[in-house]
Amino acid sequence: MLAFGYAQAKDLPMGIELLRDTPAALPIAGGTDIIQLLQEGVIAPSELVDINLLPLRGIEPAGEGLRIGALTRLSEIADDARVKARFPVLARALEETASPQVRNMATAAGNLLQRTRCLYFRDATVPCNKREPGSGCPAMDGENRMNAIFGGSSSCIAAYPGDMANALLVLDAELEVQGPDGGRRLAVADLHREPGDTPHLETTLRPSEIITAIHLPATPRSANSHYLKLRDRASFEWALVSVAVALETKDGEIRSARVAAGAVGTTPWRLPLVERRLERGRLDEAAAVAAAEAATHGANPRSQNAFKVKLLRAAVQRVLLMAGGLA
Ligand SMILES: Cc1cc2nc3c(=O)[nH]c(=O)nc-3n(C[C@H](O)[C@H](O)[C@H](O)COP(=O)(O)OP(=O)(O)OC[C@H]3O[C@@H](n4cnc5c(N)ncnc54)[C@H](O)[C@@H]3O)c2cc1C
Repeated sequence: MLAFGYAQAKDLPMGIELLRDTPAALPIAGGTDIIQLLQEGVIAPSELVDINLLPLRGIEPAGEGLRIGALTRLSEIADDARVKARFPVLARALEETASPQVRNMATAAGNLLQRTRCLYFRDATVPCNKREPGSGCPAMDGENRMNAIFGGSSSCIAAYPGDMANALLVLDAELEVQGPDGGRRLAVADLHREPGDTPHLETTLRPSEIITAIHLPATPRSANSHYLKLRDRASFEWALVSVAVALETKDGEIRSARVAAGAVGTTPWRLPLVERRLERGRLDEAAAVAAAEAATHGANPRSQNAFKVKLLRAAVQRVLLMAGGLA
């Protein structure tokens, strides 16, 4: 049996101090991912620092946008009238996440930091470079149906599985982070790292840092934003492919676009070629088809996941038609 300590942080400085003073300590928020990883023997922290008493829960106005506390539950964000009206891609992505029970427990920051669903990472009895650097990657020629077609390396092709991060990418969201050296802002686009030859390093968070909030700026695109998730079953399931899109349109012309895909990259995956094809054009069926073609440029599918190439094109086309009121 694995022995580990447990400590409850009463305030933010105490939380940071507990993390700093205990090597291999990890924060626990909703616990819906970290407990599973502990039970499966995938991680072995020396201590869990419970951050649930910290005043980091709730949604408040911030300038023209919103500030979402890191401990806000996914269901609270999905149900918020301001999020639904002004940032619909986020509400939709969260409505499609997990199950109502999980959404009531899981937190905003915890969702961003959930670990991959790669079968080999989740099975502590087999090698995995992410879990045990240098041990190998059986996914390369093994069960790789759910794995990434973008951003992989010779060390790792594990896909980033989450939904919310893709929506936050197209909303240009930023994180508030606090650590031993003070606070800083970090774009969600800069949070996740591609594996390279260090697949065990998954984010750009520094040691002992705690995410305290997510900022949603009001942009000319945020209210015209959409999410489409394709998966093996209609609920309680991670994506095979998902696409988030946010568009600024004027007189029928697309002025600016943000498009990102989930479950296809080793990180939440922005699609800049698709964005460029859309910008300065009108959104009709031909434009959606042409933009979707650009979505899979540079894809590197493996033995079992070439279907993601076709599925991604279809998903981009479909979500654009939805955005244009054509589907
Ligand atoms: C059955 C099931 C189905 C699911 N389906 C989906 C799905 O369809 N889509 C999807 O996106 N997700 C899905 N999930 C994943 C789920 O959304 C995540 O487990 C959840 O969001 C994690 O949040 P949490 O608060 O429970 O995090 P925890 O499990 O408490 O923590 C997760 C990680 O985040 C770190 N952490 C937490 N908070 C902070 C913080 N403030 N600062 C720094 N580090 C922090 C922890 O140390 C840990 O490493 C599913 C989960 C389950 C169990």
